[in-house]
This record gives sequence, structure tokens and C-alpha cells, in this order.
Amino acid sequence: MFENTDRTELGHLGEFGLIEHLTKHVELSEKSTIKGIGDDAAVLDFSNYKTLISTDLLLEGIHFDLRYVPLKHLGYKAVQVNLSDIYAMNGIASQITIAIGLSSKFPLEAVEEIYEGALIACKKYNVDLVGGDTSASAQGLVISVTSIGYAEEGRISYRSGAQEGDLLCVSGDLGAAYMGLQLLEREKSVFLEHPNIQPDLEGKDYIVERQLKPEARKDIVQLLDSLSIVPNSMIDISDGLASEIIHICKASDKGCKLYEDKIPLDQMTYDTAREFGLDPTVCALNGGEDYELLFTVPQSEYDKLKNLPDISIIGHITEASAGCQMVSKSGNVHPITAQGWNAFKK
Ligand code: ADP
Ligand code: MG
Repeated sequence: MFENTDRTELGHLGEFGLIEHLTKHVELSEKSTIKGIGDDAAVLDFSNYKTLISTDLLLEGIHFDLRYVPLKHLGYKAVQVNLSDIYAMNGIASQITIAIGLSSKFPLEAVEEIYEGALIACKKYNVDLVGGDTSASAQGLVISVTSIGYAEEGRISYRSGAQEGDLLCVSGDLGAAYMGLQLLEREKSVFLEHPNIQPDLEGKDYIVERQLKPEARKDIVQLLDSLSIVPNSMIDISDGLASEIIHICKASDKGCKLYEDKIPLDQMTYDTAREFGLDPTVCALNGGEDYELLFTVPQSEYDKLKNLPDISIIGHITEASAGCQMVSKSGNVHPITAQGWNAFKK
């Protein structure tokens, strides 16, 4: 989906011309950036803070489908999903690098759209683009983003820090990105069979946006900081609530009790799941790409959290031998199993 219909072949610019073209408007604003694009490596200075680094690799046909993902959104999302990993450590992201592989089907205008989206995300989240790499690819589009951030040593939240009795908390609502994907996939198959029918996404803006344009929860890290809360453990929800809960419990050698009726679901997610004949709870548990934060805090923090509209307390941490359990709406107890969203299962 290229919005711009002009077509400038990448071969006309060459690698250096392309890098120069894409990065000429990049501005640096972070004080920890000493040197950005233009040398063999960027130079950063985090003085007394610890450095956080995370990388994601996105491959066309595996992680995204350009038949319904606009390139600008792809650039934006590639950055967001990566920043999310830094926030999940309770850190602040400050720089990224972007490596990109392009097959000959992509004109310059397509790459410009990707960078436009990526740079909007950088600006919005106060992150400097400080480097990258550019290459031809035999087939399709490859994007890898590395994000760099910082945190005070004592404030980093690992997956392994959950304590027995901790409250299990989640930001925002879950399952919407998955339902957005189901909707886009359905419209794609209709479109492939009947190219004249326009996609019917009326009134479904929220869930489609949650899929195409996720927002990493920097605001939650800042909110917790303002409340003087350091989560004992934290993870971002990329693969579904069930899978991430199990990651925290395994890494911490603990169990948990999750209450189905506490799982935050948006009304549109709920209704669309029903329309598709899916159980909304299952969508929240096993659907991916919400990029919300799942974290645990000591019970003593309950009063600070109980009335926050954007945070739900969905359960608590137990001893390991109790396992990971969900109490259903009808009061039955089930073990939580992770389906996760696994690219290798395709
Ligand atoms: P090298 O040969 O050392 O890899 P390059 O010519 O690939 O250097 O890159 C030159 C500069 O441009 C470096 O600062 C690099 O980080 C940056 N750069 C290269 N590709 C990209 C890209 N796709 N996005 C942002 N910066 C890039
Ligand atoms: Mg290079």
C-alpha cells in the first residue's frame, strides 16, 4: 500500500544517496546523544544510568502484510513495538537505530513513507534516530529496529522479580489489536475474491488502530514513577496475556491467580469477538500485539493504584507450587496455558 504513486527507482540514488535522503531531516534532541548518524558508530553518554538495549526484526510476509498495512503505519509500529521493550524494563527510551532491507519492488517513495512513520514515532516519544544500515534484499521488506534507553539501577523491573502476594496489574485494555487483525484479514479475503468491494471497517476504528498503530506505554512508566512505584516485575504484552503471565511466573519461580472478570476489555473488542464467534477472554489471553504493560507491585501499593482508570488489578502472585491459575466468571479454576503468537507455527 503506497500512498504516494510516484516511482523513483532506488538504483538511481545508490546506497549513500538513499541514506543521505532519508536522514537529512533527522534532528537530535536527547542530551545523551553525543554523535548520531554520519560516522561508523553513534556515541552516547548515560553518565550514572544503566543502559537498556533491545532489538526486533520484522519480515514481510511473517510479521506484516503489505496488502493492508500502510507503509507509514509500518514505520511507526516498528518503532513503537521496540520502544515498548525499553518501557517494559521501567526505563526511558532515548535512541533507536533502523536497519532496512529493500527489494527492487520498493521505490524511494515507499521508503520515504516508512521513514515518515518512524520519525513521527521518534518525535512523539522523544527518541533520536542515531544510525542504521541499508541494504538490498532478494525478496520483500526487512526492518530491524534497535532501541536504546536508560534507567536508574535500582528502578529496573525484570521479569524475574515477582514476589508472593504481589498484585498482578495491567495497563489499558486487551485483545483489541487481535480483533483488529481478524477484521483486516477478513476484509483482505473479501477483497482478494471481489476486488470491487471496498473494505468494511466502518465504526471499527479503535480496534483497527490498535492493530496498525499501537502506542507503547511510556505514559505508564511515567505514571508509576510519579506515584513512587517501582514494579517488582514487568513485561510488555506482545504475545497475549497468558503467555506473558507465564513468562513472569517462570522467571520469578512463582505462580499466580488471575480473575477472568478483571481482565480489561474494550466494548468494541468484546462485540467484534462475539461477531466472529470468538470468546473475548480468549482473545485477551491469546491474541497478541496489545503492547500494554503487565507488572506486579507489592500489596502495600494497592491504595495508589485502585482508582486509576488506565490500570487494572487482575490477580495476584502465589507460590510456585500453586501454578498459574485463572478463576473463571463462573468461579471455576483453570490452569493458564500459553498459546502465544509464534511466527514459527505458521
Ligand atoms: P557503514 O559502512 O559503516 O555501515 P553506512 O554507510 O552504512 O556505514 O552508514 C553511514 C551512516 O548512516 C551511519 O551513521 C549509519 O548508522 C547511518 N545509516 C545507514 N543506514 C541507515 C538507515 N537505514 N537509517 C538510519 N541511519 C542509517
Ligand atoms: Mg552500513
